[in-house]
Amino acid sequence: MTEGEGGCLFCKIARGEIPSKKVYEDANVFAFLDINPRNPGHTLVIPKKHAATILEMGEKDVGALYERVRYVAAGVQAGTKADGLSIVQSNGKAAGQVVTHVHVHIIPRYLSEGPVSLEGVLGVKKMADETLDGIAASIKKSIGNGSEETGESDFDF
Ligand code: 5GP
Ligand code: ZN
Repeated sequence: MTEGEGGCLFCKIARGEIPSKKVYEDANVFAFLDINPRNPGHTLVIPKKHAATILEMGEKDVGALYERVRYVAAGVQAGTKADGLSIVQSNGKAAGQVVTHVHVHIIPRYLSEGPVSLEGVLGVKKMADETLDGIAASIKKSIGNGSEETGESDFDF
């Protein structure tokens, strides 16, 4: 048994070994209320098969997970009468991921609250056109070639 299967908090929740407020379950995913809700109805959708980040999952499994996210999200919106939904999924410490088992946050949002946009989390960074061209070229080159390089960023920000 790997550490992920044995010691992981969300694996234990998916197996029912740790109690949770379950809202949905099928053969592959488990959805439950976040213990520290950012708004009422804040729901987490997780794959039952352990993976720390989506880059550890196959593309088909990520697709299947997000199909179920869409399904559960409709229920969250209807069940909370939310005006909108933020769907957030963090990968790695730098992105703010605390629990190292893939989880998609579905957070009901209301017109009466603020700040409502991504700018509430990360401010806009002005970048020169040539910088954007360099970043786009680097990403384009890396897409589809199986490269998952890590290390120092080549870009100043
Ligand atoms: P992250 O910051 O990793 O994207 O989000 C982890 C989320 O898991 C947090 O929103 C946190 O409140 C939630 N969480 C952590 N431990 C538990 C738990 O034992 N039960 C439930 N239901 N949620 C948890
Ligand atoms: Zn796990």
